[in-house]
Amino acid sequence: MAELHIDLTISKSKTAEMIDDAWFWEGNKAELRPYLGVSLIGHHCPRYLWLNFRWFSWDVQEGRMLRLFRRGQREEETVVSDLRMIGMELDHVLDDQLDMDFGCHVKGHPDGIILSGVPEAPKSPHTLEIKTHNRESFNELEAKGVMEAKPMHYAQMQCEMLGSSKTLGLKIERALYVAVSKDDDRLYTERIRLDRPYAQSLIKRGQDIAVSDYMPSPISTRPDWWQCRFCRFHDLCHGGKLLPEVHCRTCIHFTAEKDGRCTCACYGGKEIPLEAQRKGCPCHVFHPDMVPAWELIRERSTQDSACYRVPELGDVLNGWEGYPSEDIKAAAGRGEHGTENISAESDPVDF
Ligand code: SF4
Ligand code: SF4
Repeated sequence: MAELHIDLTISKSKTAEMIDDAWFWEGNKAELRPYLGVSLIGHHCPRYLWLNFRWFSWDVQEGRMLRLFRRGQREEETVVSDLRMIGMELDHVLDDQLDMDFGCHVKGHPDGIILSGVPEAPKSPHTLEIKTHNRESFNELEAKGVMEAKPMHYAQMQCEMLGSSKTLGLKIERALYVAVSKDDDRLYTERIRLDRPYAQSLIKRGQDIAVSDYMPSPISTRPDWWQCRFCRFHDLCHGGKLLPEVHCRTCIHFTAEKDGRCTCACYGGKEIPLEAQRKGCPCHVFHPDMVPAWELIRERSTQDSACYRVPELGDVLNGWEGYPSEDIKAAAGRGEHGTENISAESDPVDF
């Protein structure tokens, strides 16, 4: 009898890998936020908020994480449909979210406005916030409530109530928080009351941070401090090893003006278009606060360029009279010694 050959090798496909790769490239092309969003405004560290607003580093996500975010966004459609099913009248949901501008670069976008139909106060308008949670986070939320378990969500809703009243001319003093457990579809809902002085203090905090020319102090100088240990800026705050990306917001010439414009001192205070901010220009000079391991030699700096004592390279003039930031960063990152490998100076550009 002929021998039967059955191939038991598992034939894995590259499809999953390709989907993650495609998401990586598509998702990370998404625009960096040009404003300080109220979804972050309750963060415990002012320095973290400032560095985020200044795009210190690109928060690049892997494809799997981006697909996970998409799942969260899809949940919004489901929740909106469920709320409508029980008779709530909703406006400004999904692709039509309110754009709330608090001034001084602070903005917010609630997930929706409930005009009527919340069981405990059917005629009162509410702002709506929808969040997905894993099992652990959901259980904590059920046990402690939003203010204690999710203080950043609580802060976000406070700002959104304040901003919605102003934007829509409605008196909104309540928010509805809808939480969905991703593991088992349990729902948790809670009504939040507006705390006006707290909301106003949060907005003021965000505005002050956004327009600050200087990096705020760290919340701790201890590298093992619990709130710093897993922060993505840990190696900047505790050791100065992390170097910033090169674009307008990490440049000494950049100013976030109180009227919401972003201007450049090197170009006579002209407003910098958003697209140009992302690219920067050859006149870029690292903001000294963002390179704490490099000593600024003031007497050798000029109005347009800064002289830094870079541990790997020695004294380097940074700016269009000297060496471009990208090249200094690359040479320092490669651990080169001396400036021989850094390319020549470049000319300013128009924007
Ligand atoms: S490492 Fe600590 S001080 Fe630095 S940004 Fe993060 S939380 Fe703030
Ligand atoms: S000098 Fe160039 S990189 Fe710096 S803020 Fe002005 S335009 Fe942007």
